[in-house]
Amino acid sequence: MKPDSATTKPVPVQTNPDVIPMKPDSATTKQDTAKMKPDSAAMKPANEKLLMEKYRHCIEWFSETMPDADTELHFGSPFQLLVAVMLSAQCTDKRVNMITPALFQAFPTAEALAPATPEQVLPYIKSISYPNAKATHLVETARKLCTDFGGQVPQTMEELLTLPGVGRKTASVMLICAFGQPAMPVDTHVFRVANRLGLTQNSKSPEETEAVLLNRFPRELLGKAHHWLILHGRYTCQARRPQCDRCGLSEVCDWFITEKPF
Ligand code: SF4
Repeated sequence: MKPDSATTKPVPVQTNPDVIPMKPDSATTKQDTAKMKPDSAAMKPANEKLLMEKYRHCIEWFSETMPDADTELHFGSPFQLLVAVMLSAQCTDKRVNMITPALFQAFPTAEALAPATPEQVLPYIKSISYPNAKATHLVETARKLCTDFGGQVPQTMEELLTLPGVGRKTASVMLICAFGQPAMPVDTHVFRVANRLGLTQNSKSPEETEAVLLNRFPRELLGKAHHWLILHGRYTCQARRPQCDRCGLSEVCDWFITEKPF
C-alpha cells in the first residue's frame, strides 16, 4: 500500500535517530503485508477490511521509518540479555545500560554468577528499582541455569518460565530477541499504542493484546513489530502527551480520529 496523499507520507518521528535508524527498507514491506490474515470469524467483513488496511498502513509506515528497530538493551550473549531484561522491570533501558557493563565484567556468565551471593551482586545494581529482589532472582536464575540447563539460557517458553523471576513477558523478550522465535511481549507501551491505533479492538489485558497481535502481524515481522510499538510508545505516543503532530499514523489512529487533539 502506498501513501495516497501528502498527509500519509512517512516522516521521521523518533527523538533518537542513533538508536532508531530512519533508512527505508522496502524489502520487508510489500511481501510481508500481503501475508496478513483475519483472526476472527465473528468480525464483520467491512470492519475486517478496514482493520487489515490499518495493519498494512502501520506495517508500511513503521518499515520505512524504523527499519532496524531492535532492543535498546546492551548485551553480549543470551545470558546477558536475560540479566538485562530482568533488571529492566519497572526501570528504563537507559538506566540498565548504565550499570550492566560493570555487572557483566564481574559476572559475564551464569557460571560466574551462580557462586555469588545476592549481597555481592547488590552493589552493582543498587541504583535501579527493586535491587534486593532482583539481586536474589539473578543469583537464583544463574544457579538454575547451571544445574538444569548446562549454563545456557533455554529456548522454550516452558523452560524459561521455570527460572526464578522470569515471567511471560521476560520469556517472550528472550524468545524474540535472543533466539529469533515468534513472540509478542506486551509491555505498557505495546498495550497502549496497539489500543490507541486500533490494532487491538478494546483489548482489556496484555494477554488479549498478545493473542491479537500474534495473529495479525506476519510471523516474520513479529520481532520488528514488537519493537516498533515499544519505540513508538517510548518516543512519540507517550502515555500522558502523545505527539500526534509528529506521528505519521494519525490518519489511521482510532484515538486521534476520536479525540481530535488539535
Ligand atoms: S496519532 Fe497520536 S495517539 Fe495515535 S499513534 Fe500517533 S501519537 Fe499515538
